[in-house]
This record gives sequence, C-alpha cells and structure tokens, in this order.
Amino acid sequence: MQKAASERLRLENDLRLALARGEFELHFQPQVDARTNQIIGAEALLRWMHPTLGAQSPALFIPILEESGLILEVGGWVLAEACHACAQLLKQGMIDAAQFSLCVNISPRQFRQADFVERVDSCLASSHLPPNMLKLEITEGIVIQNIDDTIAKMNRLKRLGVTFAMDDFGTGYSSLTYLKRLPVDVLKIDQSFVRDATVDANDAEIIRAIVAMAHSLGLDIIAEGVEQHDQLEFLQQQGCHHYQGYLFSKAVPLQSFHQLLHDNRLPAPC
Ligand code: C2E
Ligand code: MG
Ligand code: MG
Repeated sequence: MQKAASERLRLENDLRLALARGEFELHFQPQVDARTNQIIGAEALLRWMHPTLGAQSPALFIPILEESGLILEVGGWVLAEACHACAQLLKQGMIDAAQFSLCVNISPRQFRQADFVERVDSCLASSHLPPNMLKLEITEGIVIQNIDDTIAKMNRLKRLGVTFAMDDFGTGYSSLTYLKRLPVDVLKIDQSFVRDATVDANDAEIIRAIVAMAHSLGLDIIAEGVEQHDQLEFLQQQGCHHYQGYLFSKAVPLQSFHQLLHDNRLPAPC
C-alpha cells in the first residue's frame, strides 16, 4: 500500500518535469470511412516516454495528471500541439478542411476551467486551424458534473464552429435526457462493446441500440477499437460506417501519420 503511494508520488513528480523535459509526444490514430476506406479524421493521443521507465500507458498517467491538476498545463499543450500539427497538414495539402476532423480528448478538469472557451479560441487563432476541423472528445463524466455549465460552454464553442464527440459512449451514466439536451455531434461507441460484438449477444444488442438512438437523434456515430474484419462487418450491417482501430492503424507519430495520409490518397490497386 505504502509502496503504491510512493510510486504514485514519484510518477507525479516525474510528470511535473515531463513537459519541460520534452518527454511528451502526440500520436495520431486515423479515423476511417469503411465505405471508401478514406481517412476522415484523426484522434490525437498523448504519449509519455519516461526517461528510465520507458513508455508509460495513458491509462496509468492520465488519472494522475487529472487528480494533481497537471492536466491543465498538459492538456493545454496537447490542444496547441494537435491544432498546430493539423494546420500544418492542411497547409501541406495533405487533408481537406471540409472532410477531416481533428479529435482532441478533453478531461473534466480541463473543461471546467472558467476560461476554457477562450483557451480553445486562442489556440485556433494562433494555429490558424479552421474551427470546424476541431472536434472535442468529452466523456459523460464531464456532463454529469454540471449539466447547465457544460451545455453553456458547449454552445459557445459550437458558435465558434467547434464540434463534439461523446467518447466511450455507453460506459457511463448515459442519461437519455442529458443526451437530448447536449449539443453533441457524434457518439463514439466504446471499444468494450466492439470487442465482443460478434460473439456476445448483449454487446451486439447494445451496439444496435446505440446506432438506433444516434440515428433518431440525428447524431453521427463512430466505433472505436475495431481490430477484426468481422467486427467491422457487423458494425456496417448496423449502419455504423466510421471506425477507428488497429484494423486500419494504431496511433502513430505525426511523420508516420503523414505517410498514412499519403498512401491513403493513392488509388486502390485494381
Ligand atoms: P480514448 O480517448 O477512448 O482513446 C482510445 C484508446 O483506444 C487509445 O488508447 C487507443 O490507442 C486505443 N485503441 C484504439 N484502437 C484500438 C484497438 O483497435 N484496440 C485496442 N485494444 N485499443 C485501441 P490510449 O492512447 O492508451 O489512451 C487511453 C485513454 O487515455 C484515452 O481513451 C483517453 O481517455 C486518455 N487520453 C489519451 N490521450 C489523452 C489526452 O491528450 N488528453 C486526455 N484528457 N486524455 C487522453
Ligand atoms: Mg478519445
Ligand atoms: Mg474512447
């Protein structure tokens, strides 16, 4: 118990230094339209290379960043870095502003900042990224903390042109009343349902229900964690054509993402 606490404290101290030491990096995971096999977006995912322990899992260090408050600084860095990278890709003609979304994860603490909207606005302005290319991924944890403040902030950001995806959908409290009131554009089907959709009748049914709900609320859907062809086939049969997962590619450094975009533009061999 004591060892775990001291280990956590050590990681927290190391995380305090990580930004200054340049140990963080962003990777980009493509999002794909299965009907055309075209890349339609990317999710920016934070990576941390610890100087002695090596690569650390976000599942381990994101909660530490969140609890310690360090997420404010690191999340600000992620947003700026991601917008900058995407604006570069646009400038290089690698992506189309009307057909590509940059997805950035926003933590509850980050979203609750009083000046969050201004921060996003200034990031867009300094990177010259068209606001309609930015999609913020929020979780149900953000929503339940203060629904009125959440909706007000989301509406202000939507007026700027920014859109929203509800991440890990189906794993939280998913009140339909909340969902109806929230100005979200996309539901991301959580990978825990996708994993067993082809073998577990309950997971398959949950996916059917999410897709039906998204359709009736006029929301787009994307599935995450797609690893196998039969999972993708099942999703497409249900009417979910957008996906993200190892089947196409894991998250890769910007340079490799550049290559993926390049290869994706080549016509498919006959
Ligand atoms: P998430 O936002 O739901 O991101 C999707 C996670 O699923 C990523 O894990 C991604 O690498 C993984 N993934 C994608 N496709 C597959 C697949 O086919 N199979 C499997 N098994 N996994 C797949 P990652 O990068 O480890 O991130 C975990 C979580 O950490 C993210 O879940 C997100 O909640 C958080 N996170 C990552 N980067 C950031 C960030 O910059 N800010 C914040 N606030 N949270 C972040
Ligand atoms: Mg996400
Ligand atoms: Mg997710």
